[in-house]
Amino acid sequence: MTTITRSTCCYCGVGCGVLIESEGEQIVGVSGDPAHPANWGRLCTKGLSLAKSVQSPIGRAMYPELRTSRSEARQRVDWDSALDAVADRFAGIIEEHGPDSVAFYVSGQLLTEDYYVFNKLAKGLIGTNNIDTNSRLCMSSAVTAYKMALGADGPPTCYEDLELAQTLLFAGSNMAYAHPVLFRRLEAAKAANPDIKWIVIDPRRTDTAAMADLHLQIQPGTDVALFHGMLHHILWEGLADTAFIEVHTSGFAELKARVRQYTPKMVAELCGVLEADLLQAAEWFGRSPAALSLYCMGLNQSSHGTDKNLALINLHLATGQIGKPGSGPFSLTGQHNAMGGREVGGMATMLAAHRDIANPQHRAEVAQFWGVDAVSGKPGLPAVAMFDAIKAGQIKAVWIVCTNPAHSLPDLPNVRQALEMAEFVVVQDAFAHTDTTAFADVLLPASSWGEKEGTVTNSERRISRVRAAVQPLGEAKSDSWIALQVAQRMGARLKPEHPGLFFFDSPEAIFNEHRALTVGRDLDIGGLSYALLEASPQQWPYPQGASTGQARRYSNGVFATDSGRAKFTAVDYLPVAEPTNSRFPFHLLTGRLRDQWHGMSRTGRLPQLFAHSPEPSLEMNPVDAERRNLKVGDLLRISSKRGSLILPLALSADLVSGCVFTAMHWSGQFLNSSGSNEIASSATDDKSFQPELKHAAVRIEKVELP
Ligand code: SF4
Repeated sequence: MTTITRSTCCYCGVGCGVLIESEGEQIVGVSGDPAHPANWGRLCTKGLSLAKSVQSPIGRAMYPELRTSRSEARQRVDWDSALDAVADRFAGIIEEHGPDSVAFYVSGQLLTEDYYVFNKLAKGLIGTNNIDTNSRLCMSSAVTAYKMALGADGPPTCYEDLELAQTLLFAGSNMAYAHPVLFRRLEAAKAANPDIKWIVIDPRRTDTAAMADLHLQIQPGTDVALFHGMLHHILWEGLADTAFIEVHTSGFAELKARVRQYTPKMVAELCGVLEADLLQAAEWFGRSPAALSLYCMGLNQSSHGTDKNLALINLHLATGQIGKPGSGPFSLTGQHNAMGGREVGGMATMLAAHRDIANPQHRAEVAQFWGVDAVSGKPGLPAVAMFDAIKAGQIKAVWIVCTNPAHSLPDLPNVRQALEMAEFVVVQDAFAHTDTTAFADVLLPASSWGEKEGTVTNSERRISRVRAAVQPLGEAKSDSWIALQVAQRMGARLKPEHPGLFFFDSPEAIFNEHRALTVGRDLDIGGLSYALLEASPQQWPYPQGASTGQARRYSNGVFATDSGRAKFTAVDYLPVAEPTNSRFPFHLLTGRLRDQWHGMSRTGRLPQLFAHSPEPSLEMNPVDAERRNLKVGDLLRISSKRGSLILPLALSADLVSGCVFTAMHWSGQFLNSSGSNEIASSATDDKSFQPELKHAAVRIEKVELP
């Protein structure tokens, strides 16, 4: 007999609803949920392949493993032995070296309930803020800019706006590949109304750019200058919404003085685009009845990612394009629950329910709620700095959950050294053979999608249920169960006076505690429950007494800042962290493939997902290749200051001369060498701490075969 279980796709931030078909303990099919408002039944190739990618036992972590010395291989052990080992070793290191000698590196792949428990374990029980997430690598610049400009994290927009917008500005987002189901909605809207204008800002002619009315193929990293140039023209032409600026914003005079120097002529030269194209983009945006920006890693993964976000939000505030249908700055999340992690404060700089570690009142509120003496005010270490501290010996033990930092962090030689130097490495993952599991002293097998219960929040702030259709494979357990088991063991030793800190008997009980912490906050979900989410996914805020979530934020012009006014920030254009020079003359750009996901631990298991792009390559403009006497298929050594990798050459007129491109998915598992992050720059944004994964200066040499 076939059973249907409603759930949510585990890949990207679109958060598509799915129907899982199972027979006994076998998932036999996955289809789109026609009732889910994110996708109305549609799925992309990754979502459609879920049944096959999650069911295979090949490569899954099936039982706990432990080694007692680095010279040994890990041995299979029972759960009690593994959990005791983790709790004992962490507690011992904390007792000897203090709470900041341990760290947690978690993931946007976790469910909100998992995230909540890990955050409470680190900040409530141990007393360290050293918990960060791979979401640091994808959206922390967007978070920081939303907070600075609008007063609170979270997009003010919703998916309905995709169909209502008259002008769409895509910035650093290849939505056709990274958020395909939303892209189909945009295509359909444009087909129905050809007057809708698409402006795409991207150094590459991506599949998204190929469909644009106007593609601004800028030089890498020049986004702030471009947005200022557009704003200069908008102000010059009197297209700003002066009434909105006057009543609802602050800081405009300083911004106006700043953009005065960004003349369209100067900006066009700097960005490498035609001045006429820049003016056209400004006209379409400034005169549009509804302008929506869609942006992603191209803005965020930058050493000036926050400034890029702020400059784009400035455009919306100056034209009043926010808080009304079809308009607003809409950052798209990469992972399926990056947003949920933000909600529970699962980052080194945040506390539960969008509170801040730097705010003493917020710390006191959380400490009182949890019933602990205090929450540490010492900022935790964000991702890149965390691995630097491990390498330096300041952090002695690290627990890595559901992520693969030996593939996804920049400057991988440095990350591998850190993991080798750590005294104790715990890796909790559904997959046994990632680039990171090789470093694990303890491997904890986690259940995978289709085997666990909880909630996730998608890019439009919509919370959906994730449900188990089958039992976990082997001895795998849910991420929150594992965290709770260790927390109870550690709690008995470190905080015996607080025995009830981790008594949750279900994911629903965890959700209810998280919900209670949000009451009165900007993301208040006091009116939500599992029972309500069973009926339909809902957007936050959803306070008690509400009958529906809030589709759009700031519709009344009141922002979440202390003054209620949105803030303009007069940022300046700054170049990429690693400019090209005579030794490293090429800009290396990185991005995603249509059918792959992250380090391919799931998608790399299915041959059909390699049909679209079967092997890694380095794409180069044909003119650059000819100048260097290079031919398709030639093996190239691509070197940065940090290391090198070897890839075959592919030609692509989608790149301007001087830029080369490779996809970020390939790794040691699939390439017998590391992928693009082997040589990526670890320079980070000084406000968001997000690394510049999108750009590095590189040298390219042909590898002569014997
Ligand atoms: Fe899954 Fe994203 Fe594809 Fe939807 S668009 S099916 S959430 S990968």
